[in-house]
Amino acid sequence: MAKFASIFISPHHLRLLGIAVWAICFVACVSALVVFGHHRLEKAIESDLLAGLEPFQRLSGHVDSTFAAMRDELTAEPCGAEYFDQLRKVAYLPDGLNKFYHAPGGIIQCAVNERVFAPGLDLGPPDMVAGHTPTSLWIDRDLGFAGLPGETGTIALRDPFALVIPPQAVALKLPDWASVEGVLVAPDGRWWRRGGDAGVHQRALIAREAGGWLPLVGAGRYWTRCDLAGFYCVTLEAGLGALLKEKAGFLAIAVLLGGLLANAARRAVLRAVRHYWTFEARFRRHLDLDSIVCAYQPLLDLRTGEIVGCEVLARWRDLDDRIVFPDRFIPVVERSGLTRRLTRLVVRRAFRDLAPSVPDGRRMQVNFNIFPRDLDAALLIDIFDPFIKARDRFDVVLEIVETDALASHCAQVAIDSLRKAGVKVYIDDFGTGYSNLQTLADLTVDGVKLDRCFAMAPIDSLMCAMLTHAVDMVRSAGRVIVVEGVESAERLARLMADSRRIDFAQGYHISRPLDREAFLAFTLGHAAAAPASKAA
Ligand code: C2E
Ligand code: CA
Ligand code: CA
Repeated sequence: MAKFASIFISPHHLRLLGIAVWAICFVACVSALVVFGHHRLEKAIESDLLAGLEPFQRLSGHVDSTFAAMRDELTAEPCGAEYFDQLRKVAYLPDGLNKFYHAPGGIIQCAVNERVFAPGLDLGPPDMVAGHTPTSLWIDRDLGFAGLPGETGTIALRDPFALVIPPQAVALKLPDWASVEGVLVAPDGRWWRRGGDAGVHQRALIAREAGGWLPLVGAGRYWTRCDLAGFYCVTLEAGLGALLKEKAGFLAIAVLLGGLLANAARRAVLRAVRHYWTFEARFRRHLDLDSIVCAYQPLLDLRTGEIVGCEVLARWRDLDDRIVFPDRFIPVVERSGLTRRLTRLVVRRAFRDLAPSVPDGRRMQVNFNIFPRDLDAALLIDIFDPFIKARDRFDVVLEIVETDALASHCAQVAIDSLRKAGVKVYIDDFGTGYSNLQTLADLTVDGVKLDRCFAMAPIDSLMCAMLTHAVDMVRSAGRVIVVEGVESAERLARLMADSRRIDFAQGYHISRPLDREAFLAFTLGHAAAAPASKAA
């Protein structure tokens, strides 16, 4: 999950995602356009093939109808005067066929020009026999025997009649990249060229045999169409090089359009992904007990030198498993009205972490940060119920940053109710923001946490001098004092020296915020000096 989420979170992965989306869309768009172009090309080729096949089909029709006419009209005794009269009538039909023979069993007895062959002229075995009404063909024979010296033709026999099929041509207007050839195909696969560009049919056969390696074989693509009887076939060859050259314009437009569409798709996808995976969106979607992590920053009792508890600091585990600090998610929590939800989750997580490990007879102070807007006693008592019920082991302190909300009468009522329920209330970050002496004097709180800017200031600075005055003021109001932001041994030593007036200290020098295990080890085994610890 973390790896998957990081695709949408990390800018680097998002860039890669954008490239992938672009590439997929580009390929899809260009493919769609090429498929569209190819479809149109195939339609054009189909109509070219039909046009190329048309003369052959017409011829087949004429041959069929002529044989039918011979069968019906030639009723006289074969090779007699009346027979020749009948034969001439058939020859006059305007179908381009006019050389007829009486040739029972393939032996020519007489021809339409009244020539009688005695003995009969044996045509020998035919080159092919095919068709519903079996037709024997002697292909491209020299017709000298029939008194037509120098002429060739194909003799067709439907016993006892024979006729000569004149040579045919394929006449098509084709683009530069296409060539076409018409062939006569025998049922056993032998074939004879009937017209068009020589070699096309042969190359188509080789390419078909080569299967997937077709482009390597002839750099061409082939389409074949045959008439219904399967006699005549026309094959169209598209030379890939010439075809691509002619379609270069279309391909360039396809690539350009593909690029533009892919770019638009990439932007739309990234916009949607970014919108769905913004930090704010994923934080709101995944704010739950599993994603909330607590860090515990030890609290040092300056008088005894012991760790008496901790401040609970929330972290959020992002979907890519990275830990996010409050400066990033607290504004989202406040904007989205999730303050109570966050506090509840932090309390539940902290209770799960600490309750099983704090032994009976040992007390631990647990400080929580509370949003001023949630200062509602009933609500907070409900949220902190687990700790309140375990009051024999835990002292709960609520740290509230001072705002206008604190300076109201309602705030004091809430604070009083909380204290009655056993929950202490501290003013947090005293000395910054809205803090003022009036509030300090008016509010009955248990303690005050001096903002870390005091302790972090250089020893001889004005801010540092103000720390002493701030301590004096808070002390005179009778509140517990916590100084946070203790980053050096020198500062800690000074605070310890002033431990009659200052109660607790917190800061990196004592310990950074720790994860559960490190905190428990640090607290339960704490000695005078802070050991190396695992920050969280
Ligand atoms: P805070 O309440 O002032 O918490 C103390 C912050 O000071 C923590 O930062 C802590 O890591 C940091 N800090 C502690 N010791 C030192 C030190 O010696 N030097 C310096 N420079 N910093 C130190 P963190 O954890 O980033 O928390 C920031 C703020 O986020 C907190 O400030 C608090 O206002 C808020 N926050 C954290 N967790 C919660 C929570 O569960 N609820 C609410 N409402 N606010 C929270
Ligand atoms: Ca705090
Ligand atoms: Ca603070």
